Order: sequence, then C-alpha cells, then structure tokens
Amino acid sequence: MTYKKKAIIIGGGLGGISAALSLRTAGYAVELHEKNAHLGGKLNVLRKEGFSFDLGPSIFTFPHIFEKLFTAAGKNMYDYLQLVEPDVHWRCFFEDDDRIDLLKDIDEMLDVNLSLNSKDIVQLKNFLEYSRQLYENVELGYFDGGADNILHILQTTGLKKTLTGFDMFSTMHKGVKRYIDNEHLVYILDFFIKYVGSSPYDAPAVLNMIAYGQFKFGLWYVRGGMYNLAAALGKLMNELGVDVHLNSEITELDTEMGSVLRARTQDGQQVEGDVFVSNMEVVPAYSRLTGEPKKFLKKYQKFEPACSGLVLHLGVDRKYEQLAHHNFFFSSNPEKHFDDVFHKKRLPQDPTIYLVAPSRTNPKTAPEGCDNIKILPHIPYIQDKPFTQKDYRALRESVLDKLERMGLDGLRKNIIVEDMWLPEDIREHYYSHRGAIYGVVSDKKKNRGFKAPKKSKKYDNLFFVGGSVNPGGGMPMVTLSGQKAADMIRRDYGR
Ligand SMILES: Cc1cc2nc3c(=O)[nH]c(=O)nc-3n(C[C@H](O)[C@H](O)[C@H](O)COP(=O)(O)OP(=O)(O)OC[C@H]3O[C@@H](n4cnc5c(N)ncnc54)[C@H](O)[C@@H]3O)c2cc1C
Repeated sequence: MTYKKKAIIIGGGLGGISAALSLRTAGYAVELHEKNAHLGGKLNVLRKEGFSFDLGPSIFTFPHIFEKLFTAAGKNMYDYLQLVEPDVHWRCFFEDDDRIDLLKDIDEMLDVNLSLNSKDIVQLKNFLEYSRQLYENVELGYFDGGADNILHILQTTGLKKTLTGFDMFSTMHKGVKRYIDNEHLVYILDFFIKYVGSSPYDAPAVLNMIAYGQFKFGLWYVRGGMYNLAAALGKLMNELGVDVHLNSEITELDTEMGSVLRARTQDGQQVEGDVFVSNMEVVPAYSRLTGEPKKFLKKYQKFEPACSGLVLHLGVDRKYEQLAHHNFFFSSNPEKHFDDVFHKKRLPQDPTIYLVAPSRTNPKTAPEGCDNIKILPHIPYIQDKPFTQKDYRALRESVLDKLERMGLDGLRKNIIVEDMWLPEDIREHYYSHRGAIYGVVSDKKKNRGFKAPKKSKKYDNLFFVGGSVNPGGGMPMVTLSGQKAADMIRRDYGR
C-alpha cells in the first residue's frame, strides 16, 4: 500500500492517539512514540492489593467525540467498550448538612432533593436553556470548525452570532448568578469548571455550555474501569496498523529553515517523517524538543497552566453507604477556594473536594466489604517556589478532617491502602507543564478562554494536540483536538 505521507506522533495520551487514528484512517503512515510503558497518558490505572484505582480521569462525557474515531475506521465503538451511566451524576455535600443530587432528569431532582423547591427547578431549566444556546454556538465554530482564535470563530459563526451568542462580557459565575438564586445550586453549576481546571470567577461565561453537554450527552463510566478506553483505542490502533513504540521518549526535534526534519529518541534512533504531531504540551515541547529561547516562550505566558491536584487513592476496609459514584464536598466558601488556587496560588485551607467511589458501579474495583476512594482537591500548578512535602501532608490532613467532619466517620483509621500523587508526579510522568492536569487555564482576561493554536507558528510541519491547545483539556476535548489537528494536516498535505 502506498501512503500519502508519514506522520510522527510524539506521545500516546488521548490527544496523540486521536491524531494517530484520524491520520491513519485518512491514509497516512503513522508512527507513535510514547515515553511511558502504557498508552493513554493521564488515563492510567493503579492496581494495588485488590483495589483498582483510575489514576486520572473518572468522568467520561461527550461519547460521540470518541465514537467518531471508530466510525471513521468503519468500526462500532460499542464492540470495543461498554459505557454505564451512574443513576446520580453528582452527589453534592455541603457543610450545613444539605445534600443535593444532580440527576439527568431535572424534574426527578425535585422529588429526591428535600432542599430544592419548584422555583429552583424552573431556574435550573432556564439556565440549561441558556447553556444549550451557548453549546450550539460553540459547537459550530470552536468544536466542529476547529477554531483557534476569535477570527476563526467569526468566519464560521458569523458576526451577529459571535457578538451575541457567547455571553461575551460575563464570567461563568456571573452567567450562573443571572439565572440561579439558590446558593448551593450556584456552587454546583460554578463547579462545572472542574472539567477544565479553572475558576468560574475568571473563565468566560461561554464555559457554562459544559452543563448542557453533560445533561444532553450523559455522564458515563467505562465498564470494567476507565482504563478500558485506552485499551480499546490501543486495540483499534493495532488493527489499523499504527506503528506504536512504547518506552520511547522523543528527546529532540532537528529543525531547519522553519521545518522539522526528524525526531530523535532517547536511545539514539532518528525518526523521519513528513509531519510531526506533539502530544507533549506546547511549552515543554518548545523548550525541551526544539530548544526555543526564553523570549520565544514568553509569547505563551498568557496560556498559563490550569490547576493541578493532590490525588489520594484510598482503599478502606468498610463501605461508606452515603457515597454515590461521583461526590463533591463543597468548601464553605467556594469563592475563597478559587481565589486561593487561581490568584493567591496557595494551597486552599478549605477546598472543594471531588471524591470518586467507583465500586458503586463496578464492585470489582475493591475487595468485598471495602471501598475504593479517590480524592481530588484542586490546587495550584507548581510555582517558582514549590510547595514542600510538609505543605502537601498538611493539606492531606485538612482534606481528611473535612471528609470526616462531613460524614465519612473514622476515614483515617479505616485506610488499608494509600497512594498519593502530587503535581510533581504528574509533571514527571506525563511531562505536563508545571504539573497541570487539564492543560491551559480558561481565563477571560488572560486568553479569552482560548488555548494555544494547534499549528506551530514557527515550524510549518509541526502540530500540537492535547490540553495545551484548542479546544483544551479534559478527555473529550483533547480527543477533539487530535481530530481537528488531523483535519488541518489533511488540508495542508492532502486528504
Ligand atoms: C487526577 C486527574 C483527574 C482527571 N479527571 C478527569 C475527568 O474526570 N474527566 C476528564 O475528561 N478529564 C479528566 N482529567 C483530565 C484528562 O485526564 C486530561 O485532560 C487528558 O487525559 C489529557 O490528555 P492529553 O493527550 O492532552 O495529555 P496526556 O494524557 O498527558 O498525554 C501526553 C502523553 O505524551 C507523553 N509524552 C510527553 N512528552 C513526550 C515525549 N517527549 N516523548 C514521548 N512521549 C511523550 C506522555 O507520557 C503522555 O503519555 C483528569 C486528569 C487527572 C490527572
């Protein structure tokens, strides 16, 4: 078979895999190099003493984006993986003992949540209608059109819709407040920003479209564990003949006259190709692979990293029956939590905590009678003066104090297995910029919510995918970035 061109993919996270599959199905020869021993990048798994922890993502949304990778290859995604939707999307706990379950069926929320009244439900529906309109405008130019800046949006969406369809002059929080009076519902809707690791007080209001996306397309778990998604995509790459090299770090890109000539691996191999796709984030790739000077990197300052996290994986020898699959233990003052993480850049004293208990959907993730608990408070990315081990340990203690106070009785004494990931671990494992977990922050003032462009401005055959480029972080968005980068490559190098 003769191939159109050869693409070299640097990194086998979801962004890189998506680009590899999209280019392969378009008739390119594709060679993928991943520094780690596994595919999937942050989509990872830790198996320890009978517990199976999803190390990275635990919420699967926008499945249709992943489905496209399979349909383009003439396959059916559901022959490769099964999805299960937990009954409760989010169970939200508050310091005043209120508890609100977010369900896909809004009317049912009135029946199950004693603290909500019919006015709250009407307001929530109005908010979701606003969210739907935002979503549909975003889908047109930013998602389907693969836009990288406001000019691209104008071209695909038109002047009138661009000016009126994105709630352009508000922040996400202001957009929520316009529709919702109930303070706890405001906290919940603001926290949809979790999916991109930013602050609702800084992010543009258009991010309010995320809520509609979840209600429309569902919130899913991958049967058998989230890592089965990476395994399914790995199987598809294998079937399509993507040439995958694990334990193969790219350490350098040779460049000449504004093009990349070849990549070099850690063990000295030279890898030739026509086009290069970096799933390594933009700043680390430019500084480590092409050795750009500081002055060049400064241009990327507005693409500040999103937050990082302190990730605790706990195996406990009892069940906490009050937990759903996905739980949020809210800060008593969420505004302060966001201010600490995104402005003051300090470890939050009373963070909002995301807690996953996957054995609610998949009992095999924990031994009989035990609970598998992943705890994730968002914290700042690695600062010039990094936090110390002592600082992180202190945060661990205050997180466990909060959870015990809010109902997880005796949590500490029930721990039988523990594993903690710090921002430094995330940076070392995946080379993410300053240990960020969702790529670039969405900030109205700094970058209007845009990430870096997918095509390099310096090298004509270098493209980027993943959380640091548009449309940004989170599993579905990085997967979309791979598809859209492949579209651009096909435009430049032949369909
Ligand atoms: C704790 C945690 C919880 C999360 N929760 C969710 C969630 O619930 N839902 C959700 O949608 N998202 C979630 N996310 C975010 C999501 O995991 C990421 O946005 C997404 O997986 C990132 O994919 P990526 O392809 O951009 O990057 P990565 O997954 O980081 O992939 C980059 C890959 O490139 C490799 N690489 C880098 N440099 C080189 C090199 N020079 N040579 C070779 N290989 C290289 C890395 O090893 C890595 O495998 C979470 C992330 C974390 C860490």
